[in-house]
Amino acid sequence: MDGYTQKLNALKDKECVSAEQVNFFTALFDINNKVKQLIDNRNGCIQLQNIAPAERHAQGLPLLTFNDIEFHADILKTLLPDVCAVITYYNPASKPGIAALTVFFQKEPDKLQQFIKDGCTGESSLMDSLARLTAMNKNTLAIIANCLAKPFFEHAAAQLNFKIKGDQWSKGYCPVCGGRPLMAKFRRDDGKRILECSLCGTNWPFLRIRCPFCDNDDKDTLQFFFVDDTSPYRVDVCDKCRKYIKTVDERKLPENEEAVVVIDDIATAYLDVAAGNEKYGCGCSESVVTADS
Ligand SMILES: [Zn+2]
Ligand SMILES: [Zn+2]
Repeated sequence: MDGYTQKLNALKDKECVSAEQVNFFTALFDINNKVKQLIDNRNGCIQLQNIAPAERHAQGLPLLTFNDIEFHADILKTLLPDVCAVITYYNPASKPGIAALTVFFQKEPDKLQQFIKDGCTGESSLMDSLARLTAMNKNTLAIIANCLAKPFFEHAAAQLNFKIKGDQWSKGYCPVCGGRPLMAKFRRDDGKRILECSLCGTNWPFLRIRCPFCDNDDKDTLQFFFVDDTSPYRVDVCDKCRKYIKTVDERKLPENEEAVVVIDDIATAYLDVAAGNEKYGCGCSESVVTADS
C-alpha cells in the first residue's frame, strides 16, 4: 500500500470524511496511477527539447502549454470510461448525463483533447454544448476534464523534474503547468509558505502576505480563520477577490506525519463549506494560465 492510500485509509477513522468518500477518491487515485504507468510505457507525453524554461519564465509563462503535451488518444479512450464508471457508481444520479457524454465521445473521440483543454482553461464553447447535451452542469464536466488531464500533467511535471530556486517564480499559478494552487502548506523546517499545484502537483514558494489569485498584498484585506486553533488546518481569505485557499501547517502535525496536500484537501472539506458560508469562492478551480489558450 502506498503512502497516499495509507493516509487516505486513515481518514476512514475520522468523523469529517465518510468511508464512501474515501473509497471514491481511492478509486480515482488508482485510475490516475494506472494511467501514469501507461504513459510511462510510452516514454512519457512531452518532447523535452521543446521546453525552454528561461524564456517561458522570463515572460511569466509556465513551462508547459497544452500543445506541449501529447494526450495519447488510445489512453484517453480507456481513461474516460474508467473515470465515468467511478463517478456513476458513487453518484448514480449522474448516470444519464455520463451516458450521454460517453456516447458523444464514442462518436467524436477527436474532441476529447479539446474537452480537456476547455475544462482546464475555462473556455466555454464545447463545454456549453456538452452541458446542454448531457444536462450536466459545467462544474461537473470540468471535474471530469480535470481527471483526464491530471495524469498527463503529473507525468509531464515528473519527467521535467524542474525545481524552483529561491524567489525565481513569484506568481500565484504553477511555474510548470499554469495550474492554480490546490492548497498551501507551511513547511515544517522553516515555516515557509509553499503552494501545491492542483493539476501537476508541483510545489513552489510564495509570499506569506499575498493572495495567489489576485496578487493583493494589503494585509488589511487578507485574513485567515481556523475552525479550531489547535488544528493544523486554516483558511486564508482575500477580501479583494473573495477567494480562499486552505493551508496545512506541518509544524502542527504530529512529528512523524508529513502534509500530503491532496489528502489534506479531502480531509478538510468542512473548511470549504465554512468558506462558502462566508461567501468566499474556491481559487483552485480558477482557469489554468497558458500561452496557447
Ligand atoms: Zn502545475
Ligand atoms: Zn485575492
